[in-house]
Amino acid sequence: MKRILILHTGGTFGMVPMEPDEILVPGNLQSEWLNQVPEIAGLAEIDVEIPYNMDSSNVSTGEWNTLVKTLEAKMDNYDGFVIIHGTDTMAYTASALSFSMLNLSKPLILTGAQRPLARLRSDARGNLIDAIEIATMNIPEVAIVFGQSVLRGNRAVKNSISSYDAFVSVNYPLLGRIGLNVDLYRRNMLRPEGALRVLPGFSDEVMPIYLFPGSDPRLYDPLLNSRVKAFLLIGFGAGNIPENDKNWLPFIRGAGEKNKAVFISSSSLHGKVDLELYAGAREALRAGAVGTRGMTKEAALTKLMKLCAHYDSAELIREHFCRDWAGEIEP
Ligand code: ASP
Repeated sequence: MKRILILHTGGTFGMVPMEPDEILVPGNLQSEWLNQVPEIAGLAEIDVEIPYNMDSSNVSTGEWNTLVKTLEAKMDNYDGFVIIHGTDTMAYTASALSFSMLNLSKPLILTGAQRPLARLRSDARGNLIDAIEIATMNIPEVAIVFGQSVLRGNRAVKNSISSYDAFVSVNYPLLGRIGLNVDLYRRNMLRPEGALRVLPGFSDEVMPIYLFPGSDPRLYDPLLNSRVKAFLLIGFGAGNIPENDKNWLPFIRGAGEKNKAVFISSSSLHGKVDLELYAGAREALRAGAVGTRGMTKEAALTKLMKLCAHYDSAELIREHFCRDWAGEIEP
């Protein structure tokens, strides 16, 4: 039988309603939920650890560092890992782990639930069983198993607050579907080359800026004198930005002069950023901005958080960002 380590980190999965107004709070899990899903004992030899237990909106770089350290220490002792996590920031954590554990040779599966395990019609039980079964299979990457889909972690985005099909895979096909049978699409999976490489650390010196019609770049000028090392401008459509009186080019040029890297993503979910397509974006490209191509914003931000922890030079941050690390960007 395969050996699986479950790391319970919190989220709705194990939450319980608290009196007087039934607000959902993290429950006292270990004792409760294992008993509620006894059938998982038939899937694998399972150990459970609770590195922390919180609503995932509280997850920060410290929690990611804890996860990376725990996984690294236990990597040789288990065949696969399941991380139970809140859905709100699951895509960020999946991306962060994929950039921290390169050349992974074992499945590292994140799952959670939209409705607590203790509630009727909960999706927690099914998601957990699916995640454990997938973790016993040969999947050499960080994946999210949720709503009967297997998604590459750094391509996933939470796109529904209410549907049991909460995640969508952006600009990349699924790794598998779980129905009557488990169908895995091996051609879509990573092929690790070489030994596991653990890259610790994350920096918060990253700043996303969401552009909207009428957004005034001058309001953001103070950030050019801050400790931010990399900006992620979230532009329109293919990554376009305005070139009228609310022109972002001086901001982009100013960032370059201060050794800060500028990346351009899109407010649209699907499709690829192409800064050559329209005049505004093309000028930004000439001014040194880099398009994030088909990457999710979650993947782009966590990759920048990783890069900013290791580099001060805008040029090196740009150069390493454009390389594919774990299937997050098309080569
Ligand atoms: N607020 C919860 C969390 O992310 C939502 C969930 O788990 O679905 O922790």
